[in-house]
Amino acid sequence: MTFLDKKDISSLLPEELCEYLSALSESTGVKIEKYRASQIFSWLVKGAADFSEMGNIPKNIKAVLEENAYITLPQIQTKLVSKIDGTVKYLFRLHDGECIESVFMRYEHGNTLCISSQAGCRMGCTFCASTLNGLSRNLLPSEMTGQVIAAQKDLGEKVSNIVMMGIGEPLDNYDNVKKFLTLVNCPDGLNIGLRHISLSTCGLCDKIRALADEKLQITLSVSLHASDSETRKMLMPVARKFELDELMDACRYYISKTGRRISFEYSMIHGKNDTPECAENLKKLLSGMLCHVNLIPLNDVKERNYTRSSREAIQRFSKILEDGHITVTVRRKLGSDINASCGQLRAGNAK
Ligand code: SAH
Repeated sequence: MTFLDKKDISSLLPEELCEYLSALSESTGVKIEKYRASQIFSWLVKGAADFSEMGNIPKNIKAVLEENAYITLPQIQTKLVSKIDGTVKYLFRLHDGECIESVFMRYEHGNTLCISSQAGCRMGCTFCASTLNGLSRNLLPSEMTGQVIAAQKDLGEKVSNIVMMGIGEPLDNYDNVKKFLTLVNCPDGLNIGLRHISLSTCGLCDKIRALADEKLQITLSVSLHASDSETRKMLMPVARKFELDELMDACRYYISKTGRRISFEYSMIHGKNDTPECAENLKKLLSGMLCHVNLIPLNDVKERNYTRSSREAIQRFSKILEDGHITVTVRRKLGSDINASCGQLRAGNAK
């Protein structure tokens, strides 16, 4: 059997693993008792990198697993720890050599892991490091849970919140992301509630609507970054496919279906989207909507010619929104000494 024919066993839900093992038992003639499924599942959640580590599984079962399935646990290629706030940034290596990033942050409300959903990205946002070399491939559901499992194993700490704000566009990998959400929520598995998960999108309207119809309890973040159609098209190519009006309609649809507040991400870029006029437009655009605005001082990306807005420009912008009764936070920056924003390690590694 070649590697490509092998089963990605870590993407299976407990009941799917049960079915898979029973089929494997049938086809190989090796007896695999029903209770083995939960033993194997808990090894995977604990972070076993190889079947040989599964101490309570008999040799003959491990041998058929080895022959027919594989474990996708990401390996730590580089680990950076911030001396300022303890934020940890990982560059993980996947089984085919692709690299992705995750960032572990400690907040008062719990440990948060920012995970990647794709190796690379094809959305082309002009200020973003993750998209510089395009998309290599989608991540498997197990490669998303695997980032959580690998970080917990390495740090000996539990992750309680997940933000899908690392490399990639989660809604461009819709089916795998949906499966990931079921897997990560599984009571016998990582058991992370959907209310503790945020998914960030650059604005794929058809997928926002599909997600709305799922009525999940996750928090949806929408990367807006502009309050008029022209500026948004200049910053984000996706805005040419999905116009700003269409995006706002999809957001309203999402809110009406789920009853959940949308969090709008707005990176503050000097001279591009940070004028009082931009703030006034944004105030109008979001007026009366169940939402929150996150202002993110841009992380300067060497390859791009943008710089972050001044503190004064951000304060002025924020004040205008608050005067319009829109709740705003200016994102606190963690891990500033380790370049904790995503995409930069992967890009550096590819060179
Ligand atoms: N593709 C998804 C999630 C990944 S990016 C999305 O677009 O939402 C996570 C957030 O970081 C997005 O809001 C993205 O626009 C923002 N971002 C990307 N590059 C940035 C930079 N250089 N400075 C500040 N924010 C950035």
